Amino acid sequence: MEILRKHYKSGDIIFCEGDNSDCGYLIEAGAIELSVIKKSKKIIISILEEGELFGEIALIDGKSRTATAIAMDDCTLFKVVPEHFQQRLEGSDPLVSMLVKILLSRVRDTHDLWLTDGEGIKSKNIRRLVDDENYQLLRKVARESVVAQSRLSQALEQKEFELHYQPIISLKTKELRGFEALIRWRKNGELVPPYQFIEILEKSGLIVPVGYWVVEQACQDFSHIKKFIRLIQKNPAKLFMSINVSGRQFTEADLIDRMKKIVNRTDILTEDIKLEITESALVHNTEDAVTILEQAKKDNFQLALDDFGTGFSSLSYLHKFPIDTLKIDRSFTVNMLNDDTSMRIVNSIIGLAEGLGLDIVSEGIETEQENKVMTGLECTYGQGYLFAKPMPMTELEVWLEDYLKKFNK
Ligand code: C2E
Ligand code: CA
Ligand code: CA
Repeated sequence: MEILRKHYKSGDIIFCEGDNSDCGYLIEAGAIELSVIKKSKKIIISILEEGELFGEIALIDGKSRTATAIAMDDCTLFKVVPEHFQQRLEGSDPLVSMLVKILLSRVRDTHDLWLTDGEGIKSKNIRRLVDDENYQLLRKVARESVVAQSRLSQALEQKEFELHYQPIISLKTKELRGFEALIRWRKNGELVPPYQFIEILEKSGLIVPVGYWVVEQACQDFSHIKKFIRLIQKNPAKLFMSINVSGRQFTEADLIDRMKKIVNRTDILTEDIKLEITESALVHNTEDAVTILEQAKKDNFQLALDDFGTGFSSLSYLHKFPIDTLKIDRSFTVNMLNDDTSMRIVNSIIGLAEGLGLDIVSEGIETEQENKVMTGLECTYGQGYLFAKPMPMTELEVWLEDYLKKFNK
């Protein structure tokens, strides 16, 4: 493992102009002088102190150093390697990655121009990004992403999103217990599933306004659904409405406040709303997430951990979050009958949930056999095509009329 924190004595050279480069540096303590040689004379271009970053261009293009860095006194430097942020940069909006690349390349160009007073710089050098294959790919992706984002922003304005509702039932009694609201995009008459646009909404931040729209629409529809059910059943059971909240929404400090206000404008109570949050959203942002979830709990929202069991060391942090429900990821339901490991994981999740006093929903129950096994394991709730697919409101009414007749009180 590479040692990333290093000490330098006053006068030590950290790197020289022209050296190969592969990292940047963050100054933890001390001061650094950056200089260049111009017309055989040393010119100091900057004195940097604690907390500042230098050598950063190398992080993007890995080309040679454009200046010399010398420790001005005893320094501690933290080496910033491309892996520290390349993944984050690639994970961010392609337009942002493109901007960072362009800016750093322009800094290099300006530096070269200044150093040679404009002499000897060929136009090919000035536009060096044109030859960079990765950049060309990024440019294509960024362009597509801008087009998609503006189309999605238009979709929100023109009310092209719609919510479909999938029933969640008690596995023991088969009674209806709630619904999950799932977004779709009606694009030119065709229904586009969320996997084709949620990521773009998240990366662009559009998920924030779309998320508030989801809460509002789901509350209005839930209010309608409850009235409809009361026409069929005299004493309907208490139901919940599950709403998906993505990690990006968790960066909004007033998220819960705004959601509460939206819910309060309808005749739905916050205690009827179950916010579904994925494990990854919590793990990547634990401190803030705990604060937001505690506020949600204080405001009486129910909380579910979605896609539980996928890819994270879930158990170690579970007790930190004030959640009510675990949703076992569909991949376990699909595999448990022919894969021992999946079956063991399902078993442990159910045991764990029982121990912590949490409800469990198993997602993706498609067959009678899966239903039987999950019911046998005393999983609280089930959701899946065996019971019902996600449906638009009109279809849901037909389904409710038919399903609730079996439990008419
Ligand atoms: P999710 O939260 O895990 O939602 C469950 C997904 O499983 C839904 O896919 C649902 O249609 C599907 N599903 C349910 N039962 C079965 C089954 O028996 N078999 C199969 N094959 N699939 C089943 P959908 O509607 O395509 O949604 C995909 C994902 O998109 C959701 O996964 C959720 O992460 C995200 N999503 C949907 N609506 C919203 C939203 O309003 N906001 C946010 N942030 N994300 C949303
Ligand atoms: Ca969900
Ligand atoms: Ca899920």
